[in-house]
Amino acid sequence: MKRGKWLLLIGFGALAVSPFFLWERAREPAPDFSYYLEAPSAMRLVEVMSGRLDLERRDVVKKALDAAGISYREEHVSNRIFNGVNVIVELGEGSETLVFLAHTDRVAEAPGANDNASCVAAGIDALKILTKEQATKGKRLRFIFSDGEEKGLQGAAHHANNNDLSTVYGVASFELCGVGDAFGIWDVVGPALNSPIVAVLQKAGQNLNIYNATHGAVPRFGSDHLAFSKKGLAAVGVTMLPRDDEEKLRSYVDDPNNPKWLLNFVRPTIFRTYHTSGDGPETIQPVALDMTTRLMVETVRVADQAK
Ligand SMILES: [Zn+2]
Repeated sequence: MKRGKWLLLIGFGALAVSPFFLWERAREPAPDFSYYLEAPSAMRLVEVMSGRLDLERRDVVKKALDAAGISYREEHVSNRIFNGVNVIVELGEGSETLVFLAHTDRVAEAPGANDNASCVAAGIDALKILTKEQATKGKRLRFIFSDGEEKGLQGAAHHANNNDLSTVYGVASFELCGVGDAFGIWDVVGPALNSPIVAVLQKAGQNLNIYNATHGAVPRFGSDHLAFSKKGLAAVGVTMLPRDDEEKLRSYVDDPNNPKWLLNFVRPTIFRTYHTSGDGPETIQPVALDMTTRLMVETVRVADQAK
């Protein structure tokens, strides 16, 4: 190899590993739950959850639901490799069930603000709004704050394996809700193709004037919905993103092993902090959380009216 090429290679290598050093920072411990109670907001809940242990994050979710007067049940998940709890809220009436998921756990190396405290916090705000409205008649909502997603979709799989799914209308797993002004519906394949759940998400986006688009299979980045699509149900992932990143994100998820992505700044925004120590609350945009909350609420309303 020529000297120039070597230099280029070393340069690339240094850039590739730089995020691990530059972003490694001593973080302040997360604020106490009282910080959230002072002025409850999705942003504050993200701050309280970030960096905490999984069981503390789950506890924060339960306390936030308690504070809002929203009742829930706990579903214990226990097997050879995992012990945890799904926190489940059910709302409304109707013969069909819309299932939303947002996982509460995080990977050890990341504080887990965007992945996935963001979607949990937006979901709690959506439930606060929905519980104040007249109960849905056409569709009930089951919101699962799932555990062990990062350990192999443990909570979602347990739920899918141990509950009657015959009334399920569609499943949406919300992942990365804290950055962007648009949303993507992904893994639109198999039973999800031309499914009502995709249609109601799109209609809700249209009603709210939020740009959105669908994507087919995303092999490397699964989420909780996969536990349900395995059972033959229409189940998709939903992720917020900057609209300007659409093309880049499509090419990233289609070819995540391409060496060019080693350069952190080349990646689509939401993958710059994904599963790294950089996934802290400072990256979260309150407007994106608010957009997610509105999308969840509108999707429930649209689904309730849908056939
Ligand atoms: Zn996640």
